[in-house]
Amino acid sequence: MKYEVLTKDGRAKSARMETVHGIIETPVFMNVGTVGAIKGAVSTDDLREIGTQVELSNTYHLHVRTGDRLIKQFGGLHKFMNWDRPILTDSGGFQVFSLAKLRRIREEGVHFNSHIDGHKIFMGPEESMQIQSNLGSTIAMAFDECPPSRASDQYIRDSVDRTTRWLLRCKEEMARLNALPDTVNREQLLFGINQGGVVDEIRIEHARTIREMNLDGYAIGGLAVGESHEEMYHILDVTVPHLPEDKPVYLMGVGTPANILEAVDRGVDFFDCVYPSRNGRHGHVYTNQGKLNLFNQQYELDSRPIEEGCGCPACRSYSRAYIRHLLKAKEMLGMRLCTLHNLYFYNTMMKEIREAIRERRYAGYKASKLAGMEGPPKG
Ligand SMILES: [Zn+2]
Repeated sequence: MKYEVLTKDGRAKSARMETVHGIIETPVFMNVGTVGAIKGAVSTDDLREIGTQVELSNTYHLHVRTGDRLIKQFGGLHKFMNWDRPILTDSGGFQVFSLAKLRRIREEGVHFNSHIDGHKIFMGPEESMQIQSNLGSTIAMAFDECPPSRASDQYIRDSVDRTTRWLLRCKEEMARLNALPDTVNREQLLFGINQGGVVDEIRIEHARTIREMNLDGYAIGGLAVGESHEEMYHILDVTVPHLPEDKPVYLMGVGTPANILEAVDRGVDFFDCVYPSRNGRHGHVYTNQGKLNLFNQQYELDSRPIEEGCGCPACRSYSRAYIRHLLKAKEMLGMRLCTLHNLYFYNTMMKEIREAIRERRYAGYKASKLAGMEGPPKG
């Protein structure tokens, strides 16, 4: 793995990362395909067409349904889903803590019941690494606890200390797995995760501790879980400077276009979020003039594309009126076209962000992009 910062513009950085599955140009938005597909009937051919660089899949979901051992028999997730570019898998931790029923956290890991059929599962750092190794993703995420946003400082401190001990176990297990002859991707990368709620000192202390572990990248987790945008930006302000500048920084689960523009300005270069696909399935589409709800009656006779000049498969061929009709008729194509447009919008925004940083005009770009999206809707 080679990660090279190409340009810095203020705190914003644009980098190039070489992986066994190809190059990732950052800042990048990873498109979220929970169970190995983006919801809304989006294929990997579609991903290539809408400019996806990295696909993200959820370890927990693939483990409980179909199973990582079966996927390994197909040569890993890349072959199973027919995608040859980078894939990032999360650790499963977030879903275990948010979806699973009756969980018990112990030093060795977490005992919980599957949200599908209730069967008992145990997942700790080693299990998470083994599952991600079976999937053969490009980047694996460390197994961590995302403490509840209302947890006490003492709870957060204890949880973060355990996350650090788990991170050491993840690193050792990944090294062991990457040395085995039948491992799908023996160059699998490991990103560690910074936690600490919205407590500055815990965040900073944890960042300082994990930066010493010489990991392939560093994520900031446990944000966008109920705190205000200002609190999130503040945590980025105080935490990112304590992470290594020569490694990628990933802000997990964030966010709106405005959140991304602000986080890029604070040194973040990897993002993921379900908003564009989830909103697309509900007929909410992003434009440079703000979000539109295609269910609204005002689009009934609107022959324009979702956004004039957009090169996505929806805007190249179909009108707002037709897509509205499909959505109203609950035709799958309506959700699919809106999802494709939204992901294309995010991927295109990231391309504009990279160009703006490389031409050292990011501040101006950010201001005009935000002004356009936050202004009165013109559609
Ligand atoms: Zn479009």
